[in-house]
Amino acid sequence: MQIVNEKSKCCGCTACVNSCPLDENAISLSFDEEGFLYPVIDTDKCIECHACVKACFYHTGVIDIERISKNIHSYAVVTKDTDLLNKSQSGGAFGEIARVIIEQKGVIYGAAVTDDGVVEHQRIEAVEELYKLHGSKYVQSQMKDAFFYVKKDLQSDRWVLFSGTPCQIMGLRKYLKKEYSNLVLVDIVCYGVPSPKLWEKFLESYVSKSKEKIKKIVFREKRLGWKVCKTVLEFANHKIVTDGWTRLWGGGNALRPSCYQCKFSNLDRPGDLTIGDCWGIEKVYPNFVNEKGVSLLIANTKMGEAVFDKLKNNVDFCKVDINSVLQPRLVEPTKQPKNREYFWCDYKSMESDEFFHKYTKKPIREIVRNWISTGLNFIYQLKFFTRRLQ
Ligand SMILES: Cc1cc2nc3c(=O)[nH]c(=O)nc-3n(C[C@H](O)[C@H](O)[C@H](O)COP(=O)(O)OP(=O)(O)OC[C@H]3O[C@@H](n4cnc5c(N)ncnc54)[C@H](O)[C@@H]3O)c2cc1C
Ligand code: SF4
Ligand code: SF4
Ligand code: SF4
Repeated sequence: MQIVNEKSKCCGCTACVNSCPLDENAISLSFDEEGFLYPVIDTDKCIECHACVKACFYHTGVIDIERISKNIHSYAVVTKDTDLLNKSQSGGAFGEIARVIIEQKGVIYGAAVTDDGVVEHQRIEAVEELYKLHGSKYVQSQMKDAFFYVKKDLQSDRWVLFSGTPCQIMGLRKYLKKEYSNLVLVDIVCYGVPSPKLWEKFLESYVSKSKEKIKKIVFREKRLGWKVCKTVLEFANHKIVTDGWTRLWGGGNALRPSCYQCKFSNLDRPGDLTIGDCWGIEKVYPNFVNEKGVSLLIANTKMGEAVFDKLKNNVDFCKVDINSVLQPRLVEPTKQPKNREYFWCDYKSMESDEFFHKYTKKPIREIVRNWISTGLNFIYQLKFFTRRLQ
């Protein structure tokens, strides 16, 4: 028997793998040729109980969530904690939500980067460790046994906050099969997730040239500005700032096939809370703009609203009409580029250097645009100094 019939109908959530009742699991994850993990059934071990199929929302449908009204409960949020704001990708909404749960002696699950540059879900208990989960990692996060441990924590009556992409949240709901009153689910507005193996190859191309071990990776360095999307690779003795990875995933070719047909690029969110960037806030509330970032936070359920009530004294916030700050990924999925097939053919056939050069080089129009803006800036500065000298 097979569980994945079409690549676009598997998001890699791991609900199926974690649902297999056999001691020696008959279903495991394996990388495909694009570098994404998919479940594969070992037919010699499988007893055809169909527990894996039942846990998959592509096979048995998504769970309906009891929501509160969509419009009234959307907020633009900026944490009052400057340190947290600097570490977070947007306005620090996630960090504030996590603190509420840690205060209840709860545990937090979210995406972190290992010392080897692998993006995976980790379990955090102490507020001092939360920094590992801050910031967006633009690679599909590997779930490993996270669902299993979430269930264990819930059954031992601890508060649990699980954060991730909407499909991971729905996968967890399906795996758990029932509602827990000690569980808070946070989904992110999601553009789509790039291939983990492509990321490994990209990172390796820098590590092999530098001959040093990587010390730190920041996928979108906030210190360069909220709106700047550059990756910082920190080695022992030097730092590389690159927009190469942004070009690769931003181009759309590197995303998982399920992302182009995402079931969650709309306002029917699977989480109690949804967090994202509040792009467009300048048009609605210009006074609320913060150059360090503004979060969009939507409380979808009563649980979400209750958590927001607990954190609202620690943030600056204003209520927003969701339609005035509707992020593109709350309307429709990212479009599959027409040349995606060629991109992956090149990935398989080209040498790394040649491949990355082809897909990460700046397009001519961007180079020309940069020249023009540098030129205009120079003329402006010159005029300014000449006027001051007169
Ligand atoms: C792949 C990806 C695509 C995104 N696309 C959009 C978009 O199109 N529009 C938009 O408005 N916002 C998008 N975001 C969300 C946005 O970038 C911020 O992550 C979000 O606003 C939270 O910021 P924060 O300041 O509240 O907290 P932060 O502390 O920065 O929050 C980090 C949170 O993101 C989670 N996270 C980080 N990386 C991953 C990952 N690879 N997989 C699963 N969860 C992860 C962590 O678990 C944590 O909950 C995307 C994030 C990711 C990871
Ligand atoms: S449960 Fe998740 S990982 Fe398993 S087949 Fe379905 S979508 Fe894929
Ligand atoms: S059908 Fe049952 S035994 Fe077979 S892989 Fe799925 S869950 Fe495991
Ligand atoms: S775009 Fe949709 S399918 Fe892809 S990772 Fe995000 S939530 Fe999952």
